[in-house]
Amino acid sequence: MLGPVLLAASRSDRMRRLVAAAPVTRPVVDRFVAGDELAPALDSVRALTDSGREVTLDHLGEDVTDKATATATRDAYLRLLDALGTEGLAGKAEVSVKLSAFGQALSSGGHDIALENVRQVAEAATAAGTTVTLDMEDHTTVDSTLAILDELRQDHPGTGAVVQSYLFRTEDDCRRLATPGSRVRLVKGAYKEPASVAHQDKREVDKAYVRCLGILMAGAGYPMIGSHDPRMIAIGQHLAREHGRQAGDYEFQMLFGIRVAEQRRLAEAGERMRIYVPYGADWYGYFMRRLAERPANLAFFLRSFVPG
Ligand code: FAD
Repeated sequence: MLGPVLLAASRSDRMRRLVAAAPVTRPVVDRFVAGDELAPALDSVRALTDSGREVTLDHLGEDVTDKATATATRDAYLRLLDALGTEGLAGKAEVSVKLSAFGQALSSGGHDIALENVRQVAEAATAAGTTVTLDMEDHTTVDSTLAILDELRQDHPGTGAVVQSYLFRTEDDCRRLATPGSRVRLVKGAYKEPASVAHQDKREVDKAYVRCLGILMAGAGYPMIGSHDPRMIAIGQHLAREHGRQAGDYEFQMLFGIRVAEQRRLAEAGERMRIYVPYGADWYGYFMRRLAERPANLAFFLRSFVPG
């Protein structure tokens, strides 16, 4: 029940200041975020890849409202890709981007600004031997994000997309995206969406997830199962077998710090397992979405306020 309240708070500057200022916040943030800087994030990447897991890195940030910050986001990704290449990590680590951090939401020319910024990141990723996946944000951004995906895939066919099963439109999007060479991460969806565009009942979101997974597994693309849900993982394995896919013809993805034992178990069982590793100082929106999606995460945060 608190989920929608927390999701609304994730976009409040006042709450951002309050949560960031609380001294107990940091240790809880550290459970979900691999540090404010690139160096500790790369340490996490090394530890994950040494244990047989792969990585997608997210330089945290979203909803930028000026061009200079969008350019700074692009530059942070260029430094990240340079480091992945130099450190020999590009074979096991790709990057995830939020287009709202690249200027997509700017009132004048946001779509084109985001495209130009992310195009340079895609070029750097291709040069380093890795790929970019476009995270999906709230429903108002989906058309623009998928149009940018189509543009990028002309020169960088490995560019990946994310689709959210809570949106009514997503089964159609899955059909359109399930084509050769297309990398598609299926998630349930993490934003507060109105009933006019999205399922509100968790059971309906889960059923839609299974239908979308069926479409992606039956299609010719590369499905990326982004979920911590044991049922979705089991159904993913079942559908993969049913459609003659071997491990590596699809992959599982989970978030940094969440269900770590299960991440290891799947990797040890021979599944391709990729971990989404967020880093950077702008962790507030990401952190609040993690609290919103699971009461246990919120309880962990609240318990840290209790002394002793
Ligand atoms: P839920 O529906 O939250 O939970 C179902 C069950 O999974 C729970 O009952 C429990 O059994 C298990 N479970 C879940 N979390 C835990 C936990 N912490 N510990 C133990 N068990 C747990 N959303 C977007 O909107 N856009 C994106 O671009 C995006 N990218 C993502 C990338 C990755 C790699 C992942 C994993 C998620 C991403 N998400 C994204 C978030 C996603 O939309 C969901 O909000 C989030 O994954 C929670 O849904 P779930 O399927 O993991 O399980």
